[in-house]
This record gives sequence, C-alpha cells and structure tokens, in this order.
Amino acid sequence: MSRAGCAALSFLLAPFLALACNDQRVTVARVTPTSPDSEAERRARMVETQIVNRGVRNARVLAAMKQVPRHLFVDAKERDPYGDHPLPIAGNQTISQPYIVALMTELADLAPGEKVLEIGTGSGYQSAVLSRLAREVYSIEIVPELARESAERLRKLGYGNVTVREGDGYRGWPEHAPFDAILVTAAPDRIPQPLLDQLAPGGRMVIPVGSFFQELKVLSKDRNGKITEKDILPVRFVPMTGEIEKTPPAPE
Ligand code: SAH
Repeated sequence: MSRAGCAALSFLLAPFLALACNDQRVTVARVTPTSPDSEAERRARMVETQIVNRGVRNARVLAAMKQVPRHLFVDAKERDPYGDHPLPIAGNQTISQPYIVALMTELADLAPGEKVLEIGTGSGYQSAVLSRLAREVYSIEIVPELARESAERLRKLGYGNVTVREGDGYRGWPEHAPFDAILVTAAPDRIPQPLLDQLAPGGRMVIPVGSFFQELKVLSKDRNGKITEKDILPVRFVPMTGEIEKTPPAPE
C-alpha cells in the first residue's frame, strides 16, 4: 500500500482507535473502585463488623486486631484472610476466627507489664496479638514444623517479645512461671493441673474444654489461690494432643 493510502487508512480508523481508547478509560475508571482495598482497611472493617458488633469493646484489643497483619500468618494463596471464619494452616491445624482471637484476648484482660503463656502457637497469629498487649509472651507448639515456622515468622515481622518453643504444653513452662494469663488454643477434655499451678495469684486462664462439645471457659485465681470458673460460650477447637490424651483423668 502507498504511503498516502496508509495515511488515509489511519485517518479512517482514527475514530475507532479513539473509541477504543475511550473504552479503555471507561474500563479503568470502572475497575478502580472495586480494586482490592488495602489490608489495613480490610482489618478495620473486620474489627467493626465481626468483633465490635459482637460485643468486644476493649480498646487495646481492638487496636491490636487492627494492627497485626493476619494475611501474613496464612498461606499467601489464601483468598480471604480477613473473612469471618477460621483458616487452615500447616499440619491440619487452624487459626481461629478473628472474633474468637479477639474475645480470648479480651478475656485474658492483660495489663501492659504482664507475662502470658499460650499453648498452641500454630501460625503465631494469636501470639502476635498478645504481644501488643503484654510485656512477654511465651508460646508452646507441639508440631515441630509449626513451631519452627511461627518462630521464624514472628522474628521476621519484629515481634521481639514472643518466645516460641516446640513441645507439649500440657506441663506448661515452669522456668518462666508464674504467668499473669494463660491462653490455651487447642481443646483438652479437662483442665491441665500443671497449667493451673503456673497461674499467678490474680491470674486468668482462657481455655476451651471438651471433646466434641467444647465450652470456652475463664478460670480466675484470686490472691489466696482460690479458683473460680466461668463458662463463656460453646466453641470448636482442634483437640489438645500429647500427654493429656494418654493420661486418664485423676479420680474425683
Ligand atoms: N493460636 C494459633 C492456632 C492454634 S491451632 C494461631 O493463632 O495460629 C491449635 C494448635 O495447638 C495447633 O497448632 C496444634 O498443633 C497445637 N497443639 C495441640 N496440642 C498441643 C499441646 N499439647 N501442646 C502444644 N501445642 C499443642
């Protein structure tokens, strides 16, 4: 085709090309508002709709839930890290639903200078939330791969006041006891006595108890060592494994 012919063709096509461009602009304009929100916005929405609406009001707990990047504690392929449900992690385990993490944290009632023990580190998400509210967090995980990965993740993300160790949490962590609060995130069928023993006077233990039917409980130890127990709500956690499964309950 001659040069003149080519120019004529471009001239003839110009309106269509312009249309195509316009079209593209329209498409871009339409896509922008529905593009993924920032993770911080998702967390703020998660806190409002799933946590505040269900009655968790402790401002420090809400701030921690807004701050800790839940999406970095799950598989990068997870499509809905801020959804209103538990999420799978390695080793057939799960991170609790955001509301349950917030509720358990609120029930632990932590003051900034306190020391807390968690049984069941899993991904390290609950430990990270606790680390925003307490001075020191100790966490025990029975699955070696999870213990290794969560310790590494917490270190990389800068949660310097969390110490993770691999092991069976049934016997607690006597070297660091007593604890102002103990959170158990796997369900035993009864309360492990060594954990109660490691609770400081004035301390709180938040623990799901049961097998198929479980109840989230708070046990408080008063200044004289007397324990009171309160049922909070029915829950569904993975079972606590290890020694507790092998030892029969002590006779009444
Ligand atoms: N808190 C975790 C989720 C916990 S899932 C998070 O935020 O991701 C429960 C965890 O408890 C699992 O990782 C499971 O391996 C661990 N677990 C079960 N029995 C245990 C025991 N006896 N001692 C320590 N960890 C235990």
